[in-house]
Amino acid sequence: MPTLAPVPYVITIVGGGFAGTALARHLARQAGQLPLEIALVEPRAAPGPGLAYSAPWPELLLNVRPGNLSAWADDPGHFAAWLARQPEAAAGVPEFACRATYGRYLAQELAAVANDSGNKLTITHYPTTALAAPLLPDGRRAVQLADGRTLLSHAVVLALGNFPPPPPTGPDHRYLHHPGYHADPWAADTLARIGPDEVVVLIGAGLTAVDMLLALRAQGHRGLVQVVARRGRWPAAHGPASAPTYPGFYAALASETTVAGVLRSVRRHVALAAAQGIGWRAVIDALRPDLGRIWAGWPVAEQARFLRHLAGRWSQVRHRIAPSGAAALEELTASGRLQTLAGRAVEIVPAGASLRVGVAQAGGPTTYLTANHVICCTGPLADYSRLQVPLVQQLRADGCLTPDPLRLGITTDATGALLGLDGQPSAGGLFTLGASRRPQSFESTAVPELRQQAVALAAVLIQRYQATQP
Ligand SMILES: Cc1cc2nc3c(=O)[nH]c(=O)nc-3n(C[C@H](O)[C@H](O)[C@H](O)COP(=O)(O)OP(=O)(O)OC[C@H]3O[C@@H](n4cnc5c(N)ncnc54)[C@H](O)[C@@H]3O)c2cc1C
Repeated sequence: MPTLAPVPYVITIVGGGFAGTALARHLARQAGQLPLEIALVEPRAAPGPGLAYSAPWPELLLNVRPGNLSAWADDPGHFAAWLARQPEAAAGVPEFACRATYGRYLAQELAAVANDSGNKLTITHYPTTALAAPLLPDGRRAVQLADGRTLLSHAVVLALGNFPPPPPTGPDHRYLHHPGYHADPWAADTLARIGPDEVVVLIGAGLTAVDMLLALRAQGHRGLVQVVARRGRWPAAHGPASAPTYPGFYAALASETTVAGVLRSVRRHVALAAAQGIGWRAVIDALRPDLGRIWAGWPVAEQARFLRHLAGRWSQVRHRIAPSGAAALEELTASGRLQTLAGRAVEIVPAGASLRVGVAQAGGPTTYLTANHVICCTGPLADYSRLQVPLVQQLRADGCLTPDPLRLGITTDATGALLGLDGQPSAGGLFTLGASRRPQSFESTAVPELRQQAVALAAVLIQRYQATQP
């Protein structure tokens, strides 16, 4: 009697940026001698860098120091040690490394795991996009790829990262079709289409806008850049590496059930720190690891209050830029090539080859700016009810992907399992990690949080696999 070959256990990870590849690496570590096939679906040529660490300009730096960027949570110095061995460090290890260098590190770390012959695991990169993942009668999911292949999967993990921002103004959307309007700041041709003397308006003054400014400068742009942002504030710069730290003060916050209470407590600690000669940055850094559980303890109404009144300010002080980036902003402003307007873009109207941007400023009439190019830098679209991405649309329509009420991402349980409309984990092993998990912990975008999520989710997936073994 011929014996049937056993069906290999397949975990498909959709998205091969930091989060997807961190999960693949940790699955490999935790699988031991279990035979396992990891399918990594990522349209970029190599998995690892993802969107964040693919930027080709050496001027675009990581926004944290190497010591905070190890790929491995249990080996915090790993990236710094790797960096010290690279040609970039010949003249000294850079305090803020180039983002593309970090992308190379991530690609190498994945390749090392994939080529390890000491386990029974394969990691296969599918350089394409996943379009759908319907449930099969046998409980698996059929991940349908844009190249026509289908991956029969025992578990599917969405590691989709960030999506381009939504249109900043409406309802007149004619500008979306204007050649000078750039809806996706990360699209390959965005900056290539901007001439050196053309006038550019950036909408938003967060990290993306800083990147656009630095990249424009790197490609020799000399024209005026006008930036429109609600409060006209740029991200804060990092202080010196030697600055003293401040101890965590979660014990003082645990009983605070309101945003106002937490804010009062934080202000008190900023004052206490200042009295000891310690700067506010250290207080924010001490708070950051605890923000997730503080957030999770708030009812939805309180979370909404935080989003309305404080999230912008939090983002400005928490997501910092390298001092060299801050210096470049100052220099551009002093030279008159950078103007920052506090206000809200309320309309964008095509005017021949240009675009007119209406800016509502507090207490004043609407001001109009005329630019050759407008780049939308308002931050990624997190609202999964609005995403027009085939895979998301299919899972949403099937009732197994539920956008959260505050439109920050996907409704999941604590492990990252997607919850259906009935509040139960969706069938067929659907999970997510990365920015999509902001509803759970709010801070779910940077390396330290994603690293932890990858370790924990790998353990859940391996346990789930082991449960299927006789
Ligand atoms: C420009 C930028 C700079 C940043 N700099 C830093 C920093 O210095 N330090 C820090 O800690 N954090 C930084 N971040 C935060 C960053 O989001 C995280 O560090 C991390 O890179 C996110 O990884 P990710 O895998 O979730 O997302 P991504 O890196 O965006 O990867 C998601 C991947 O999913 C793929 N994908 C999406 N849909 C599909 C599909 N249907 N099929 C197949 N593949 C799909 C995409 O091609 C993409 O490569 C930065 C973010 C950005 C955008």
